[in-house]
Amino acid sequence: MTISTSCLGFPRMGAERELKFALESYWSGKSSLAELQKVAADLRARHWQLMQTAGISVLPCNDFSYYDQVLDTAVLFGAVPAAYRGIQDPHQRYFAMARGFQDQASGADVPALAMKKWFDTNYHYIVPELEAGQNFELHPEKLFQELEEARALGLEARPVLIGPVTFLKLSRTADDRPYALLDGLLKVYGQLLKQLADKKVAWVQLDEPCLVTDLSADEKAAYRQAFAFLGELKERPKLMVTTYFGDLEENLDLVLQYPLDGLHVDRTRSHQDLWDLLQRVPESLVLSLGLVDGRNIWRCDLDAAYHQVIEAARKPGRQLLIATSCSLLHSPVSLRGEKDLDPEVKNWMAFAEEKLAELAALGAGRGKLFDESRQAQEQRKASQRVTNPQVRARTEAVSEAQAHRVSEFAKRREVQLTLPLLPTTTIGSFPQTQEIRSQRAAHRQGKISDEQYQEFLRNATADCIRRQEALGLDVLVHGEYERNDMVEYFGEKLHGFVFTRNGWVQSYGSRCVKPPVLFGDVERKHPMTVEWASYAQSLTSKPVKGMLTGPVTILQWSFVRTDQPRSLTCLQLALALRDEVCDLEKAGIRLIQVDEPAIREGLPLRRNQWEHYLEWAVNSFRIATSGVADATQIHTHMCYSEFEDILPSVAALDADVLFIETARSRMESLAPFADYPNAIGPGVYDIHSPRVPSVAEMADLLREARRRVDPDRLWVNPDCGLKTRGWREVEMALEAMVEAARQVRAESESLR
Ligand code: GLN
Ligand code: ZN
Repeated sequence: MTISTSCLGFPRMGAERELKFALESYWSGKSSLAELQKVAADLRARHWQLMQTAGISVLPCNDFSYYDQVLDTAVLFGAVPAAYRGIQDPHQRYFAMARGFQDQASGADVPALAMKKWFDTNYHYIVPELEAGQNFELHPEKLFQELEEARALGLEARPVLIGPVTFLKLSRTADDRPYALLDGLLKVYGQLLKQLADKKVAWVQLDEPCLVTDLSADEKAAYRQAFAFLGELKERPKLMVTTYFGDLEENLDLVLQYPLDGLHVDRTRSHQDLWDLLQRVPESLVLSLGLVDGRNIWRCDLDAAYHQVIEAARKPGRQLLIATSCSLLHSPVSLRGEKDLDPEVKNWMAFAEEKLAELAALGAGRGKLFDESRQAQEQRKASQRVTNPQVRARTEAVSEAQAHRVSEFAKRREVQLTLPLLPTTTIGSFPQTQEIRSQRAAHRQGKISDEQYQEFLRNATADCIRRQEALGLDVLVHGEYERNDMVEYFGEKLHGFVFTRNGWVQSYGSRCVKPPVLFGDVERKHPMTVEWASYAQSLTSKPVKGMLTGPVTILQWSFVRTDQPRSLTCLQLALALRDEVCDLEKAGIRLIQVDEPAIREGLPLRRNQWEHYLEWAVNSFRIATSGVADATQIHTHMCYSEFEDILPSVAALDADVLFIETARSRMESLAPFADYPNAIGPGVYDIHSPRVPSVAEMADLLREARRRVDPDRLWVNPDCGLKTRGWREVEMALEAMVEAARQVRAESESLR
């Protein structure tokens, strides 16, 4: 029995990130548009050939993008906001929407469109902006070109389109009535589908991932309207409604009631019983089973996946496809270049190229890959590198008491270090200058010795301490110069991680991230940060705070193992960090910050799963931070998002001080924190821009904060770490911040 296979999308960047470099070179004016287009076309051709050679039956087109597929969809339907319409050149206009556009000669200055996370991935899409009564018109050139390119190679590719409801739901509409635009939008979808039918396109992949989320009544109505309209179209290719990242659950009926042709479901993130699904989906629909996980880097358990194929194929009359769970956009390209990777762990892994081979094997139902997969799963299960009995014993013995500080906040603060009213501090990192980056590179390439590099870092840290003293900050930090990245740094020091050379995945535009791979039980053998914290503390009589990345953030920004629940992996990370927190305390560090910027983005797509997630996430943070005496002050920091809807969980972290991002919203995002029980440091300095805020501006923000929060519990600090900024602006801004604190402090004291 051979079953057709389909790949829902391929990473665009290239195995060597060719597209990234071509884009950046084009943006900086070093290369021409034609050169960029050539690189892109070569990549597309190479990726199609890879899929074809692997034996995949259905290949995607229009999954490529110069920046982002949601932006491409906006352009496809002519949804260009007014601010960009004046830009004549279509390529310039496209990149202006993606990245903003400044031109001194003409005085043009338009900001970029907003960016948001693509569901629960670390990919960011561009948020289209639609006006009330938005007029849509078709610009299908890019799509048609990719279709023709594939045909020129002798391939018939299936175009990928974001569906109308997902498109509207992800867009920002001026009047908050996105579905008022649905009629108009459906008309252009209709036109496009007609043109594709004229071009003899047999199938279209219509991505509707919003179907796996909780939908409001309006959204459900929009789906009904859309599917009724598309279903009834006379001249159109067949439509494969494609969902991923979760189950359709109650939304399944929205698809089944209409004359559509196929449904793709993500079986790697499904709790639905396969048999139940098979009963419900009528035989007239082609069922596409997403069995090869597009979101992780592990080999597929082919036996288990094939078991589902057999079960699905048992129902006669049903036409089946087997597919990647989602686009492979979220996995790195190829293991081939991973020469330095630990061979044992490498054998458990599969990147996009290897996933194609797995998919083909599943389609054929046999082959040596099945044996390899079986062996790899067995080895992995038995490997001592994965299972560490001491770590296991420790996680099992974790007690409720370990998640609690000795006393509650009010008592703790009485014995903690005395600081001035409205104490000033920063979030951790200081400018990572060109010099620091080049020294780091030189060290990595072996051009300078370990000793030389350490010496350099010590000098940079000492310089940072001197500058903070001169600025008059109350609580100092060491500057984080020894860290390339806040997760990688800890991954490298913990057991249970490996690192890839080229395991890049696109984050947004040309930006890629290379997450560490967490494959085994996590153990901390040695202190990770104590030396730097102690060294920094030895240079000053002001208190220096220790600086750690929290367990949830390490989990969230790594590729993690799938052989145990994420909650258990997080607990292991928490215990390792707990030891570090205790060692910092032992070394005399009196304030310890544990950053959790990623806690909110770990939220499941479905509301009914939030509670469970928040429970273990909060518990992990508390395990990490509750091993210290009352006198030790725990800080935490969060950013990138609003926390209103998870406020009780943020409070439940029970950090002594919480630092959050508030400057851009002018303290409005602080409003819900009025009842926050512990101390809080709302950012008064927006570090995302080189602009230096004035004393008056920050003093005003502080007064605003003081109206909402009791001044005894208020700290003064920037929004986030300063590593992306330059020293000049940082020093000016912090000097102004310290002065603003001084002024408001004087006012507050006179009020007492
Ligand atoms: N301590 C980190 C820093 O200052 C926090 C980074 C973050 O919030 N993303 O860089
Ligand atoms: Zn931050």
